[in-house]
Amino acid sequence: MEIAIISHDGKKADMVQFLNKNKDVLSKESITLIATGTTGGRAEKAGFKVIKMLSGPLGGDAQIAARVAEGKTAMVFFFKDPLASHPHEPDVNMLVRVCDVHNVALATNEATAQLLLDAIATRV
Ligand code: PGA
Repeated sequence: MEIAIISHDGKKADMVQFLNKNKDVLSKESITLIATGTTGGRAEKAGFKVIKMLSGPLGGDAQIAARVAEGKTAMVFFFKDPLASHPHEPDVNMLVRVCDVHNVALATNEATAQLLLDAIATRV
């Protein structure tokens, strides 16, 4: 199962904490993590194996949206920072839309991501 992880700058520390907290599940052979560039780099530093796309503002969100549209990505954990503005807001909205178009599970905050991960933990 391919899971995409993305976090805005103000949420990157939260993302790393979330990954570490769920290391047992996320390190399973059956899970492939993909990420936007900087988020992926932070995850790698924390010891995770990640396939990195471009950084979000340079098109990484769009690359992940394409994988969702192609049916390759099953779940998206996108820790958005609602208190900051982002130059690539159109790409962010596009990713959210594409997840809705293809009925792909999308968590835009940690609480929801945890619920989703708990729901699949025993099945992966
Ligand atoms: P980043 O991109 O992981 O490369 O910072 C995330 C984003 O802002 O979409």
